[in-house]
Amino acid sequence: MVKKFAMHEEEFICDICYMKVTKLYKSVRNHCPFCLTSKHADINPGDRSHACGGIMYPIDIEQGEKDKYKIVFCCEKCHEIKRNVMADDDNYDLILEIVREKAHKSVKGA
Ligand SMILES: [Zn+2]
Ligand SMILES: [Zn+2]
Repeated sequence: MVKKFAMHEEEFICDICYMKVTKLYKSVRNHCPFCLTSKHADINPGDRSHACGGIMYPIDIEQGEKDKYKIVFCCEKCHEIKRNVMADDDNYDLILEIVREKAHKSVKGA
């Protein structure tokens, strides 16, 4: 198998919340676990070949296979929608907030 993705192998500082993001054990980071944003820089995960560079904000949570949840992101610049699997140490309070806000909106029919 050819490894064509270059993921965050090291710690990094989030561009949005300036928190120090540590390496994820046994998995790869594709979003900040604190503010749940990511950068629109990839066509394939980690390839950094997308020219957009906009910030992707979490807008929804979806349930995927085997109880794995996915965060739905929307790019502020080009409005492309992307989905990433939730990490074990993602900000749970923020995730609940997204779910709650979504439920609130659907009740209001907005
Ligand atoms: Zn962040
Ligand atoms: Zn974009």
